[in-house]
Amino acid sequence: MSRDVSGRPAVFMDRDGCLIEEMGYINHPSRVRLLPRSPAAVQRLNRAGIPAVMATNQAGIARGYFSEETLALVNDELVARLAREGARLDALYVCTHHPVAGAPPHRAECDCRKPRPGMLRRAARELGLDLSRSVMVGDKPSDVEAGQAAGAAGVLVLTGYGRGEFELRRQHWSAKPDHVAEDLYEAVEWALARIGA
Ligand SMILES: [Mg+2]
Ligand SMILES: [Zn+2]
Repeated sequence: MSRDVSGRPAVFMDRDGCLIEEMGYINHPSRVRLLPRSPAAVQRLNRAGIPAVMATNQAGIARGYFSEETLALVNDELVARLAREGARLDALYVCTHHPVAGAPPHRAECDCRKPRPGMLRRAARELGLDLSRSVMVGDKPSDVEAGQAAGAAGVLVLTGYGRGEFELRRQHWSAKPDHVAEDLYEAVEWALARIGA
């Protein structure tokens, strides 16, 4: 295993329950609701020159709940709403797989469905990132685990499923977050301090 030590650190973020409200399967752009401080959080990364990279599991594709076209429309809506507030995601990664639901190619034992680190590793290759200095933010233990499995820090946010996970279920976690933050904005502040940006 080689690691590009000259790579840049990045902040990875989950979509549902982290950037936007957790709404169950988001099968229409009208269900996209930015969380209040998400644009400001992404803007801070943009200004600091730190790549803001979304990494989301969307097994609704494998399950046949929505199409790849719909997924693209939903992500376009998210990107457009951020843009309206002057915030830009540098890259978006989506795992559309599920190990047992649906049919191939989306029914797959993939390496990218969080808690596996495949999306982060792919981003590191494509964007030239140093994962050891990077941070993954999300509202589920699987987000924290994906970050840590990639060699990055894992931050749990208390938006989405996060508050229930933290207050009611943390004795069952298989991995401990490196930090717990109120929301993505606070997670980004922690990440920037860790990165030294
Ligand atoms: Mg989530
Ligand atoms: Zn996958």
